[in-house]
Amino acid sequence: MFKIALLPGDGIGPEVMDQAIKVLREAAHRCGLEYTLQEGLIGGNAVDATGEPLPAETGQLVLQSDAVLLGAIGGPKWDGLPVEKRPEKGLLDIRKKLGLYANLRPVKCWPQLIDQSPFKREIVDGVDLLVVRELIGGAYFGARGTQDCGNEIKAYDTIEYSSSEIKRILQVAIDMARQRGGKLTLVDKANVLDTSRLWRRITGEMLAECPDIQTDYVYVDNCAMQLCRKPGQFDVIVTENMFGDILSDQASVLGASLGMLPSASTGEGPALFEPAHGSAPDIAGEDKANPIAAILSVAMMLRIVCHEKKAADEIESAVNKVLDRGLRTDDIMSEGKERVGTKAMGEAIVEELISM
Ligand code: NAD
Repeated sequence: MFKIALLPGDGIGPEVMDQAIKVLREAAHRCGLEYTLQEGLIGGNAVDATGEPLPAETGQLVLQSDAVLLGAIGGPKWDGLPVEKRPEKGLLDIRKKLGLYANLRPVKCWPQLIDQSPFKREIVDGVDLLVVRELIGGAYFGARGTQDCGNEIKAYDTIEYSSSEIKRILQVAIDMARQRGGKLTLVDKANVLDTSRLWRRITGEMLAECPDIQTDYVYVDNCAMQLCRKPGQFDVIVTENMFGDILSDQASVLGASLGMLPSASTGEGPALFEPAHGSAPDIAGEDKANPIAAILSVAMMLRIVCHEKKAADEIESAVNKVLDRGLRTDDIMSEGKERVGTKAMGEAIVEELISM
């Protein structure tokens, strides 16, 4: 029995997860996957109920699960709280607790939505890439400090990576490249940073054993430019934490809306799947949120953890079909298309699955 911890969170989180669970139910039924769902609190709703953004009970629940499905956390109601009590702390704590060192963000330009992109059609046409970001090392976790030196104040942050930290994330990226187009791009700043030079050395050693993978090395500043100029050249991009944070947000613009972008974070234990967007307080409770990112996150879970490739492919194909039918939530609406709410979009995707 496959154990799923369900953490709907705040704002539109519960709305989009409701639809994602409907799709999961149908997809699991079709492939004979047996699972249990146990719900837990995280984020602002957890602060309201227990005083903590990641209550101990939720911590236990996720550790005992095979995978975690998360909606989104946060909202203006909790913005004034001290850092330790803010919803975002719940997210950082769960990543740490599960040792989630690899963040996977696929970005696809769906042909039906190509004209919604801020980029020219010929630039985004056919874009289908994956950013693999190291998630628990580098500058965000290194030693830092601020010193008052009398007439000046100095602050510093340090980037550190060990060879084992680099090897484990590279292995994830290699596995992903094998499942996709077989091309891997290491993004770094090896002309300046020692950590980047270590990433390069280890990548060279590991990829020497992988003749089936085509490898490429690109400096981060050039990568930022290439993502705007010719994003179709990328298949799998692997990079350290801070570069990945920036590049994955930049790459997300290549898809039509945040509401279309799923994500996964994997580590030694249970993996976590969540839409790339936040809790969207501006549209929460209005049946306006696009549930597709959450639904595609379920497809990622089925593919990566349950090894149910066919079920994942079917969900993606059902999404494709509702877009072909012209159904659009607000964020991807355009002239001549049919505007639908969160619930209707989820139900249409379930209908497509049933009719396959
Ligand atoms: P956001 O992603 O919540 O919203 C940005 C914009 O995109 C908003 O206009 C929103 O309406 C729109 N949007 C987002 N998801 C959408 C969807 N599925 N369908 C349609 N439109 C969608 O980012 P924000 O406004 O910067 O942050 C809001 C809150 O979410 C903050 O409290 C922030 O800390 C939190 N946040 C949480 C996560 C997470 O849970 N992983 C990630 C980012 C932000």
